[in-house]
Amino acid sequence: MAITNSYLKSVYEDLEARYGEQKEFLQAVEEVLECLQPVVAARPELEEQNIIARIVEPERVITFRVSWVDDAGKVQVNRGYRVQFNSAIGPYKGGLRFRNEVTLGMIKFLGFEQIFKNALTTLPMGGGKGGSDFDPKGKSDAEVMRFCQSYMTELYRHIGADTDVPAGDQGVGAREVGYLFGQYKRIVNQFTGVITGKGLSFGGSLARTEATGYGVCYFADAMLRDNGKSFEGKRVIVSGSGNVATYACQKATQLGGKVIAMSDTSGYIVDENGIDYKVIKEIKEVKRARIKEYLNYVPTAKYVDETGKAKGVCSGIWTEKADICLPCATQNELDLASAKAIIANGAIGVFEGSNMPCTSEAIAALKGAGLLYSPGKASNAGGVATSGLEMSQNSERLSWTFEEVDAKLKGIMETIYANCKQAAETYGMPGDIQAGANIAGFLKVADAMLAQGIAY
Ligand code: NDP
Repeated sequence: MAITNSYLKSVYEDLEARYGEQKEFLQAVEEVLECLQPVVAARPELEEQNIIARIVEPERVITFRVSWVDDAGKVQVNRGYRVQFNSAIGPYKGGLRFRNEVTLGMIKFLGFEQIFKNALTTLPMGGGKGGSDFDPKGKSDAEVMRFCQSYMTELYRHIGADTDVPAGDQGVGAREVGYLFGQYKRIVNQFTGVITGKGLSFGGSLARTEATGYGVCYFADAMLRDNGKSFEGKRVIVSGSGNVATYACQKATQLGGKVIAMSDTSGYIVDENGIDYKVIKEIKEVKRARIKEYLNYVPTAKYVDETGKAKGVCSGIWTEKADICLPCATQNELDLASAKAIIANGAIGVFEGSNMPCTSEAIAALKGAGLLYSPGKASNAGGVATSGLEMSQNSERLSWTFEEVDAKLKGIMETIYANCKQAAETYGMPGDIQAGANIAGFLKVADAMLAQGIAY
């Protein structure tokens, strides 16, 4: 699909001229605008009020210096970002990513996706995202703490429980969220739900840790069942071995699938007997080690090293034979060659756990071959949805049981699937969940923007 609508085309070309170096952001925008063509054609007020040019421009971009002292006493400097993209339907909400490769363009792509994802959850949350080119990998706990404190020493003045509520993402797990929250509280002298993904003893929600991974599987299960299929007896590949991947592995197994492969940036493992998520948790969350260590627990498993490959290109995992693929690592991890391998292996569906894991060419190939496909903004929305539930519990000063939160999460994922399906049908693209997700998410935000006038 290409952008042929003249209004959308002119907005996109203007953006391309302005932000040509922000490739991932442009990729995310193009994917959304392509799907919005029938909507813009049917709703002339969107062009009259220039909603598209407004929605692709963040309301506010904050960049800042983060200086901190390493264990050797040397002063280090990193760059910090917070992109407050859109607050039409609620306070900005979206995670923080700490990883070497982080750039403003990457944070803008993630923030843009977050607008539509948050709208799809049906909860009142606007879109935002932040991060830094700091990588906690290989740093001591004390270094991570000092970095997080310095990062929050600037960020605190821009966020708040009713303004902007960050959370975790790559490189920001329970440890980092704890340090960030501690510093916020120290500075403002208030205990509020300013960040989600908190520890259970200080306002965190049960099932938040599991939510994104579980949510991907609940979404996939709803879509599979709607198409007369299920996880039962299926071979499953889950890429990555972080927060999302670990709990996708657990839930896919609970739903009757067998997870045969998982990966990290060094390589991937294959266990024909099914990967035990508890071993992955031990290796990644406790030991903070490489996935290769899995062989120390299960010597019959296979390990394929991919360290010689270019950075970010660990895609060998997609050549393994599977029925269901759950990319849960990073953006653009599944390219056209991977899509072709998945199709040749006879897979039935690809359900995205990470943000924008499939390249545009890969998506076109998967859909063209008739595979079921769900975009991350729909199928990984369970994490932010449960963050929304954490915010509700914080406001009420209550905490719900694991079962209550999990049941709400499952209900939300099923509703998101139903809404995406309905939106796709309404705009003449039945079964196209990618189009449905973009349209349903967009319409909610666009209608709020229209109602709030221009200079809001
Ligand atoms: P983590 O940092 O916990 O884990 C990321 C995992 O992906 C790590 O195992 C990492 O390997 C691996 N990885 C990164 N790049 C590659 C690559 N090129 N090839 C293979 N493996 C790779 O992050 P999360 O699990 O939190 O996030 C994963 C994805 O899900 C991201 O796209 C994130 O934006 C998205 N997401 C996360 C949510 C959440 O609640 N956490 C919510 C919604 C979306 P290594 O250990 O070597 O670094």
